[in-house]
Amino acid sequence: MDALKDRLIEVHALGKAADLLEWDQEVMMPRGGAEARARHLAVLKKTAHEMFVAPDTGRLIEALAPAAEGKDDDESALVRLAAREWRRRSRQPVELVEALTRATALAQEEWFEARKASDFARFRPRLEEIFALKRRQAAALGDFPDPYDAWLEEFEPEMSTARVDGLFAEMKAGLIPLVKAVLAKTASARVPELHGRYEIPAQRRLGLEVARSMGFDFARGRLDESAHPFSSGIAVGDVRLTTRYDERLPFSALYGTMHEAGHGLYDQNCEPALKDTPLTGGATMAVHESQSRMWENQVGRSREFWRRWRGRFVELFPQAAAFSAEDLYRASNRVEASLIRVEADELTYGLHVLIRFELERELLSGRTAVADLPRAWAEKSKAYLGVVPPDDARGVLQDVHWASGLIGYFPTYAVGNMISAQLWNAALAAVPGIPAAIERGDGKPLLGWLVENVHRHGRKFGADELVRRACGAKLTARPYLDYLRAKYGELYGL
Ligand code: ZN
Repeated sequence: MDALKDRLIEVHALGKAADLLEWDQEVMMPRGGAEARARHLAVLKKTAHEMFVAPDTGRLIEALAPAAEGKDDDESALVRLAAREWRRRSRQPVELVEALTRATALAQEEWFEARKASDFARFRPRLEEIFALKRRQAAALGDFPDPYDAWLEEFEPEMSTARVDGLFAEMKAGLIPLVKAVLAKTASARVPELHGRYEIPAQRRLGLEVARSMGFDFARGRLDESAHPFSSGIAVGDVRLTTRYDERLPFSALYGTMHEAGHGLYDQNCEPALKDTPLTGGATMAVHESQSRMWENQVGRSREFWRRWRGRFVELFPQAAAFSAEDLYRASNRVEASLIRVEADELTYGLHVLIRFELERELLSGRTAVADLPRAWAEKSKAYLGVVPPDDARGVLQDVHWASGLIGYFPTYAVGNMISAQLWNAALAAVPGIPAAIERGDGKPLLGWLVENVHRHGRKFGADELVRRACGAKLTARPYLDYLRAKYGELYGL
């Protein structure tokens, strides 16, 4: 066991060094560094990969795997995680991995230009190539009940496509009529809007204060700026958050910061015994997203939050002095049928994900061809959100995920929302004082429950198992739908 653990710790360290170089690339690096950075990262990643797939690592895993089945101690979880990763990596021919790396690098450049020109036809050959390679990858990974499982496993291990189908069917049935009902009321509902300019240093100060009140430890983390907000857990003692600022949209940076700090708290509060092993960090992409969404939405877009922060907000931004806490609550929960996923509100967000998940399934089964994507996208957008993208840039070209080869990733966003509602209910049942604490600007009672029930376990459990342990119930979409119905029903007078 010690030999395997030592090997995994070394591979993990190389991976984290690469993460830090990537953080630097997004936050600090001068443009001139791009070419050298790509070379340096490639060497680092290749070295980590070769160290992991070396035959002796495989022999160590094979020797330990049978005894690790069905046990929930740390070492067994570590062996299972390594065995899964080993299987994924060793089954893919080197030539296929290299072809994917090359194709996605080219596709991302082409996607950037195609989006700028709003021209899907330009991007289409690249996307066809990526889907062809991803289909080969799924075949190489083999023996899954559904070929989509091969892609999903990369982001959501231990959850099947059939399981996601079930959760999405539940979400779809509840969410589509609810969104329709709310959208029919948006013209008559009282939803104030913020106007004017919001100084960026004041926005930054607010974000830092709010993140600190959530319990984010700035002695073990920092907040910077990047084109797209993200968080990177280098170690439990070094968690990097980023946000972006827009002078006209103070909520964008505030909720971006709360979202990333939610991810960051997860990474800061993993069990110290797991540190430096691959078990450190978040369980799965969906569970990670449940944490960011909970702090952003259930906490940040609540009345209690604005009762605490309204005073500070108007102190930093005197132009908003006419806004009451209730006004800010309503303004931060504006619903609209929008085209762009990353700007979507909490209520409609799940439908944006649904469009992408269904299209990925159709592309895989051959029911939709890549060439038909703009038409298929428009149909689904019309059916679910009531809007048709006027051009490719605001439709099928808006996300970088497919160009990056990240297929099977989108569903984790929506499953994360479902988990956030279920965990939130369990936290409130266990610690009824949480809303009152949020109104005092004290995130510690909620954080304490999350550390105990979610964060400390690191990557030991899959999403279903983690929810079962934390909530004593099976993961379902129902609490999420009930939460949305109650909140938006009241806001929009349904
Ligand atoms: Zn996130």
